[in-house]
Amino acid sequence: MGNQKVFGVVTRYADHVGQFRPAFWEVKDVGGAHREPVAGSIPMVSCFADNRVAKAHPEWVQVGPGGQRATRDQPYFDWDCLCPSRPEVETLALEWVRDAAAQSGPEGFRLDDVTFAREGYCQCAACEAGRRKAGLDLETYRMARLADFVARARSSVAGTLYFTLFPDPYPGHLERRFGIDVDRMKQWVDVFVVPIYDLAYTTTYWLEVLAQGFRDRLGGHPWYLELYGLGVEEAKLEKAARVGAAYADGVLIAYEKDVDKLRRIQEALVG
Ligand SMILES: [Zn+2]
Repeated sequence: MGNQKVFGVVTRYADHVGQFRPAFWEVKDVGGAHREPVAGSIPMVSCFADNRVAKAHPEWVQVGPGGQRATRDQPYFDWDCLCPSRPEVETLALEWVRDAAAQSGPEGFRLDDVTFAREGYCQCAACEAGRRKAGLDLETYRMARLADFVARARSSVAGTLYFTLFPDPYPGHLERRFGIDVDRMKQWVDVFVVPIYDLAYTTTYWLEVLAQGFRDRLGGHPWYLELYGLGVEEAKLEKAARVGAAYADGVLIAYEKDVDKLRRIQEALVG
């Protein structure tokens, strides 16, 4: 990757693709909507978040302590989380990955929402059976389950594999909270993407703390910082992008419509 910083976008506008590289394109979102891949973009697939599938198959939803279900009816969750231990769920998610990856070029592919809902999830019958069979405690079993899924997904992706991480760099948190063994994932994941969203970025000290934390946490493995762009004042967004670029290998701006604004920030960052 050299010293040249990457500047890219996550976009819903086909005309942005080709103007910025990388350009990520949501092929399947957390709501369950599917969109056709766009040539030259990097498809993103939300693997274990899907409101539509959860509604059709409530028995596939992750179950937490006390039988609480990981759905958006609960105060904590913004979408419904499917259980990676259910063979039907894994088959479906791998199909989504295969279909989208088959249409993507060497640009690669991005795995989104490959995660357990939070601590203590999932305790459904499939997880309990899998955990017992493997002779593991729940935390270790969850990490093994997601690692196995990513290894399988990797075999469908010819180009660069990107993987989205929740923005918590504190050692042990991604492992304990979400079942993501970051160090183990490095063998399959080429570039981690960390969305750190704010609607204004009026201050950036916290962004710097998190970005520095990820640089240390990932130990030299490539990673991009993703900022929320839509409606954010340009000067503030540019400052946030500069802060991120000091620590990450690349900066992505998500959901901004204004191409000129994106271009000016790109020029300020990478020339
Ligand atoms: Zn489960």
